[in-house]
This record gives sequence, structure tokens and C-alpha cells, in this order.
Amino acid sequence: MKDKKIQVENLYEDGELWVQNLGDKTIHAKRMNGKFRNLKWLAIVVWVPFFMGPYFTWNDKQAILFDIDNRQYHLFNITIFPQDIWMLTMVLLFLSILLAIMTAVLGRIFCGYFCFQTIWTDIFTKIEQWVEGTPVQRLKLDKEPVSFNKLRLKLVKHSIWIAIALFSGVTWMLYFGVTWTDYVKGEITSTTMVITAIISFGAYVFAGFMREQTCLWICPYARIQGAMIDEQSILPTYDYYRGERRGRLKKGKFVKGFGDCIDCHQCVAVCPTGVDIRKGQEYGCITCGLCIDACDLVMEKVGKSKGLICYTSLAEMKSNKPVKVFYKRPRVIIYASVLFLALSILVYGILNLVPMDLKVLHDRQPLFVQLSDGSIRNKYELKVMNKTDKIMPISISFSSKIKNLKSKKSFKTVMIPSGNVKSIYVYLIALESDVGSDNNVIFVVKSEQVTLEYKTLFFTSKSM
Ligand code: SF4
Ligand code: SF4
Repeated sequence: MKDKKIQVENLYEDGELWVQNLGDKTIHAKRMNGKFRNLKWLAIVVWVPFFMGPYFTWNDKQAILFDIDNRQYHLFNITIFPQDIWMLTMVLLFLSILLAIMTAVLGRIFCGYFCFQTIWTDIFTKIEQWVEGTPVQRLKLDKEPVSFNKLRLKLVKHSIWIAIALFSGVTWMLYFGVTWTDYVKGEITSTTMVITAIISFGAYVFAGFMREQTCLWICPYARIQGAMIDEQSILPTYDYYRGERRGRLKKGKFVKGFGDCIDCHQCVAVCPTGVDIRKGQEYGCITCGLCIDACDLVMEKVGKSKGLICYTSLAEMKSNKPVKVFYKRPRVIIYASVLFLALSILVYGILNLVPMDLKVLHDRQPLFVQLSDGSIRNKYELKVMNKTDKIMPISISFSSKIKNLKSKKSFKTVMIPSGNVKSIYVYLIALESDVGSDNNVIFVVKSEQVTLEYKTLFFTSKSM
């Protein structure tokens, strides 16, 4: 191979088109085959549950439903009420720390493979390629004057984009109890219409027009990721020592004294954010690995070993020593500890979700009333919440060491509607002389599934 002329003219043909993104031109990234390209297609699978989720049923009800009207959030057989919303904090903490760990170990791997922006953009550009052709043909088409053919192609492309964007917007709303039938019959509220329009418009604009701008200039994560990575983070890295001094092949041959980079710009051509990885690690790099695929293909073509661009850490690249295993890195250990804590609290919260909530409020104004017969009366408000999706019959009782403590009325079974809080007023009466040093009262509320107790006090003038 060394002495043979290497046929790379086609690589250089369009090389001038691909320069680092400075934000002044629309990026039409080239598509090349390779293992990271395949991995990206595979990663799309993580979004399949999003589109299928609203159609699953559980106990004859939508399995995942955010019922805003009734302030209930159903996840299969778990129903979460606003009282338990603290768990959402744990979910958010868990997800943000998971993102931090991923970033510390593998950079913006989430952006490169799993982020909705990346995936929607991938799908939109694939459609663009089907309709308008290769990046070179697209660039040419963009420069052409308006013609019937140009309008036809643009119309087809934008119609498909809008259909996908609308499908995304409607799918999102299905999680909130709206149905396709509601949309078809026009029986949706103006709020639903506005939210659907905002989500669909966002998908259309961000994936269709503001692709790399979103990753570079809008996404806040791009700005903070630098704080999470260090020299040990494994990122797509250009092997400066091997590649430089870069230079084009002369008459199909390597020039003596030059490195392995033949300056073909294919790594820039495939980059969805228009980064030139040879300039070092940049915040615009979403670590998708597509430049690795491109460069490997070039290296194969010119008879050099693959890996001029590869996933490695800066430390490894500089010292040529193996990377420190990620679980021994202090920042990963700290992130993992917080992650474990958030997950433990979340699991504890889910395992301890009870179908009923009980609070007892003692009347404060006044704390007690002396009745005409000299006995003392205390008033309590029992607030019972039914956290199930069925009407809940409950029984109330109490226990205390106060002699002859009795309720003004006998307790009957009380029905609590699903998702509701009901206030039940209880008046307890005792003679002051019967109240000893232990003036505790324990209310017991029983439903079919659970029994809850609440400890409170019985006040008299002696308690003051
Ligand atoms: S790094 Fe590889 S793909 Fe990029 S210009 Fe050099 S040889 Fe071409
Ligand atoms: S530089 Fe390489 S890894 Fe980074 S975004 Fe561009 S193609 Fe992906």
C-alpha cells in the first residue's frame, strides 16, 4: 500500500465544504456507516416506551396517567398524590446525579445517544436525506432559485417533519388523559391545544432548524458539563501525537515528515454539531463517536491503523498509560454516593406509600370548653385522605388512659371519596378530676387496607 497511489480524491472533493461550525451556516452533516452510527440507531429504542406508554392499561385503567384534574398520578398500581410529590425531588436528584456520573466517566454520552434533541434531529435529517438527497445535493438545492421541484421537495420534507412533531406533541398529551378521539372530534380544551402546539412547534423548530444551535448555545447542560469532566473522562479524542503534522496526500502519497492525518475533513463532515475534533475537546462535542467512524474509514482507505480518533482520556493520551478505573475516581465515588442515597430514599418512599393519610388537628381557639355540668370538652378535626382510586369506608375509634373519656356522638362508618380529604369533627368529653398526668389520646382510623394511629392530647385547665 505504501508505494501505491491512494485513491482519496473523492475524499478531498467536498472536503472544503466541511469546516468548523461558527454558527453562520446550516449544518448538513454527512452520514457514514460505522459502529457508533449503528449504536446511535440502537439507542433510539430508549424512546420507544415514550410512544407506547399511553396505550398500556393496568387494572382496566391507563397504566401511566398524570390526572391533573384529580391531582393523582398513576404509575401502574402506584398512585401518587401531591402529598407524596417529595418523591419527584428524589427522582430529579437521581436523574441529575446519574447524568453527572455519566458525564464524569464518558462526557456528553447522554447528548450523543439518548437526548430527544439528538434523536429527533437524527430522524429529521434522515428524512431530509431521503427527500432532498445527500448533504452536497441539499446545499446545492438551498442555493437554487425557487422552482416547482424545489417547492415540491420542501413541501414533502416539511409535511413529514410536521407530522412527526404533531405525533410527538399529541403523544405527550396522552399521558394527561387526553385521547386521540378527543383530538379527532375536536373535543379538547384550549389548554390542551396550546400545550400540544407548543410541544409540536418545539420539536419541529429544534430538530428541523436549530439542531446544533440547541446543543451548543441553548442547552444549559452544554455549559455546565465542563465542571463534571476531567483528564480521566473518556471522550472522543484526536491523537495529536500521531496525527500531526497533518497534511494532504501529494499525488496520492504520504508526504515525508507528516503525521497520519491527511486533512480530509471527513471527521468534521459527519459531526452533527460541526466540531473539528482535531482542535481539542470542545463543549460543542456531544461525544457521539461519528468522527471516529469517519476517520476509521479513512485510515482503512489509506492503509493506516484505525484509532487516530478514538474514545480515550486526555491522561491516557498524554502519558500512554491505561486510564484509572472509573469507580476509583473520587468524583465518581461522591456522585455515586449521592445517587445511592437518592435511590434509597425513593425506594423507601415507594415501599411505604400508604393508601390513607391521617392528620388530627386539635382545636386551638379555645383549647377546651367547660360544659354546664362541669365536664371538659375538647374538639378535634380528623383529616382523612383516601389515596386509592375507589371509595373508602373507614371506622374511627380512640384510646386513652383518661377515665370515662367519651365521644359526644357515637362513631359511624364514614365514606371517603377517592383522592379526597374528608374532615371529621370529634368532640371528647371527660371530668377534669379524671384526667391524670397522662392526658394522651390516640385516634385509630381503620380502612380495609390499613390502620393508622395519631397521638394527640386532651387539654384541661391543669394542662396550662
Ligand atoms: S482526523 Fe481523520 S478524518 Fe479527520 S481530517 Fe484527519 S484523517 Fe481525515
Ligand atoms: S466531534 Fe466527533 S464525537 Fe464530538 S460531536 Fe462531533 S462527531 Fe460527535
